[in-house]
Amino acid sequence: MSKIKKILIANRGEIALRALRTIKEIGKEAICVYAKADKEASYLKFADASICVGKDVSTTSYLNIPAIISAAELADADAIFPGYGFLSENQDFVEICEAHNIRFIGPSLDNMKLMADKSTAKEVMKKAGVPVVPGNDGALKDADEAKKIAKEIGFPVILKAASGGGGRGMRVVESEDEIENAYIAASTEAQSAFGDGTMYIEKYIKNPRHIEVQILADKHGNVIHIGERDCSLQRRHQKLIEESPAILLDDEVRARLHESAVKAAKYIGYQSAGTFEFLVDADKNFYFMEMNTRLQVEHTVSEMVSGLDLIEWMIRIEEGEKLPSQDEFELKGHAIECRITAEDPVKFYPTPGKITHLITPGGRNVRLDTHIYCGYEMPKYYDSLIAKLIVWDKDRERAIAKMKEALREFKIEGIKSTIDFHSKMMDNVDFITNNFDTKYLER
Ligand code: ADP
Repeated sequence: MSKIKKILIANRGEIALRALRTIKEIGKEAICVYAKADKEASYLKFADASICVGKDVSTTSYLNIPAIISAAELADADAIFPGYGFLSENQDFVEICEAHNIRFIGPSLDNMKLMADKSTAKEVMKKAGVPVVPGNDGALKDADEAKKIAKEIGFPVILKAASGGGGRGMRVVESEDEIENAYIAASTEAQSAFGDGTMYIEKYIKNPRHIEVQILADKHGNVIHIGERDCSLQRRHQKLIEESPAILLDDEVRARLHESAVKAAKYIGYQSAGTFEFLVDADKNFYFMEMNTRLQVEHTVSEMVSGLDLIEWMIRIEEGEKLPSQDEFELKGHAIECRITAEDPVKFYPTPGKITHLITPGGRNVRLDTHIYCGYEMPKYYDSLIAKLIVWDKDRERAIAKMKEALREFKIEGIKSTIDFHSKMMDNVDFITNNFDTKYLER
């Protein structure tokens, strides 16, 4: 496999800047694309070239495959880095890149296909010997089948969209008489959001923790894990705070969890970076939920504890390089990430607008991944994530103290943000004592 010279970043915001930094650091050229609404984005100035791919809404720009491919050809890019969201899990896009001789920095089309449908992914994982959430294997035919299986596995159950993401197309069902309506509602929602109304059913795990394992797999059959992340602090199934390691787990369970993820990646012949998501119940049993065949927002905490640059490794894997072995690096200390969004800190509705004043935190082991600056006008068309604040320290207690101080320094005026929410969480007794689950904030 030959070396890559020029990489087009098919994304925007903090992840575009994050990717650009690594691409430049390892001596390659970086091409940015932008929608007209993002023409003032700071990172465009740091790119070797930037190309406008559409007006504003993402369907005409960041999701506009012909425009992105044309930009790559125009700039003579030999590879595309997709980031997260947008085209990162789009199978057509991977196929089209291939047809144009542009390398897609991510897994193979086969890998992606196999894990895209969550009900199929569960079947495959079961075959690989990985524990999965109890439920039916494969898709449901209709509401009647859902009812039949629910009675077998016992209520409560959760109906989930096979193509779901971002917490949509999901319904928790407490009793038999609710199931038909829930099925219709979830399936209709999934059909309109993902173009696929296929549903599957699972036992609803009470008060679970969401713990996921980051893996890297090269083209030579080597798979390593970069530890686990606890992403249990969620709001409406969306992650808000992530940390590594998950201190809930003892060493024995942790080792089994890592081993399951590595085994699963080997079983499917995975290549590139990927994440196996698990639910952990009160008895510390873990169950595979789904695999993300891309880089995740929260990859940063794994980078902080391992010292590895995951985007660099995604590029090197594509170039055919061999991964270091598991014992060539150590997972050390504790890292926490707070996702700062431009939202009302109490009601969580998006608040676009202009940043009129900005003070950013810093200091030893404080990392701020953000594309914002003073005077930045936040477009209303995209995700409300404006910054990821990440800290590292020798243990969780010190990491929380560091995060608290970093949040105190962080000032954004002109738009609302969730900085205060995160500050409160750092003082929250249940957070400090690690006594929470995925439903904590809803309660
Ligand atoms: P999405 O891809 O839409 O994010 P996931 O399958 O990753 O959906 O689930 C998102 C969240 O929903 C999980 O982190 C967890 O909080 C909750 N959840 C999903 N399945 C179950 C289940 N079987 N029992 C309890 N909670 C669940």
